Amino acid sequence: MNRALVHPIMGFKAKARKHKADSGQADQSVVKKTKKEGEIPCGVNTCDRFADKSFGGRSLSIDNAIDVWGDGGYTERKGRVRVCKSCYRKWKKDSKAEDTY
Ligand SMILES: [Zn+2]
Repeated sequence: MNRALVHPIMGFKAKARKHKADSGQADQSVVKKTKKEGEIPCGVNTCDRFADKSFGGRSLSIDNAIDVWGDGGYTERKGRVRVCKSCYRKWKKDSKAEDTY
C-alpha cells in the first residue's frame, strides 16, 4: 500500500527537476521565487500573508485566535482560523506568556 504512494511522488519530483533544468533560464526562476503566492489568505485581518501549509501556515481554534487578535480581528474558516507562519509565532509567544500564572 505505502509503496504505491511513494512511487508517484518520487516520479513527480524527478520530472519537476528535469523540467526546471530544461528551461535553464536563471533570470526567470529568480522572478518566480520572489513572487510567492499562496491560496489560503492569513486569517488575521491586519495581515496579508498566506497561510498555506507550504508557507508554514497553521490552523488555530477560534478561542485561540480571540486571545491574541480579539473578537473580529480574524477571519474564521470552517470553525478554525488559518494563520500564516509569523502570526502563528505571535500567537505562540502570546499564549506562552499567559501560561505563567
Ligand atoms: Zn498572518
